[in-house]
Amino acid sequence: ATIVEFIAQAKTRESAMFTEAEGKSLLSAFGIDTPQGVEIAVGEELPSHLREPLVVKAISTTLVHKSDAGGVRVGVTRAEINEVASQMRDSLADFGHKLDGLLVEEMVPAGHEIIVGAVRAPGLGWTVMVGLGGVLVEVFEDVAFGLAPLSENQIRDMLAELRGMKVLNGARGGVKADIDALVALISRLAGPAGLLASLPEDVTEIDLNPVIVSDTRAVAVDARFVVG
Ligand code: ADP
Ligand code: MG
Repeated sequence: ATIVEFIAQAKTRESAMFTEAEGKSLLSAFGIDTPQGVEIAVGEELPSHLREPLVVKAISTTLVHKSDAGGVRVGVTRAEINEVASQMRDSLADFGHKLDGLLVEEMVPAGHEIIVGAVRAPGLGWTVMVGLGGVLVEVFEDVAFGLAPLSENQIRDMLAELRGMKVLNGARGGVKADIDALVALISRLAGPAGLLASLPEDVTEIDLNPVIVSDTRAVAVDARFVVG
C-alpha cells in the first residue's frame, strides 16, 4: 500500500491515524529500526519466524493510547497469545473499544525510553521534539526542540540540551545508550532526505513514543501518524 492509501484509510477512522503497522512500515522504508512484527486476527496462528518474548498490542480504529485500555502486554509467550487476546478484548470493551486484531511483535531488549515527536507548523515546516521518556518528560518537561530539516550536528546539539543526557551516557550504573544510533534515527526522520520531508500535507503530527535506545540499537517500538 502507498502513503496516499494510508491517508485515505486514516480519514475513515475515528482516531484519524495510520495503523501502527502502517506507520512502522514507513519508518522501516526510511531505514529506521522497528521491531519485527505481524498483524493477525484473534485466534489466527502466529507465523513461525517471530521469537519470544513477544509483545501483543491491540488493533482498534478508535484506540489511541493502547496501554490506557489494557491494549499492550509485554513478555508474552506463543502459548499465552489467545488468553492474552481474550483478556484484551474484555479490557478494551470496558473502555468502549472493539478489538479488531492484534499486532504481535518481538520484544526489544530494555534500554532508555526516548520520545521523538514532530508537529507540522503552518508555514514553517516540521517542529521536532526529543525528550527522555517516562517521568523525565512528564514531570520535568526535559525536552528539546528543533526545526526540520536537521543536520546531524543540530541533532547532537538538541540532545546535549537535555538535562537527562547524563542518564543516557550511563550515569548511576545504567545502560550507556548508543547515541550514534539515536542520532541516525532522528536524522532518518528529520534530516534533509528524511521521512518528514516526504510526508504529504495531510500528515500533521507524528510520535515515536518510545524509541528504545540500548547499548547497540535505537528502535521505534511505537508509531503514531496523525492525519489532519
Ligand atoms: P501506547 O499506545 O500505550 O503508547 P506502546 O506501543 O508505546 O503503547 O507500548 C507501551 C509500552 O510497552 C512502551 O512504552 C514500551 O515500554 C513497551 N513496549 C511496546 N512495544 C515494545 C516492544 N516491541 N519491545 C519492548 N517493549 C515494548
Ligand atoms: Mg507509546
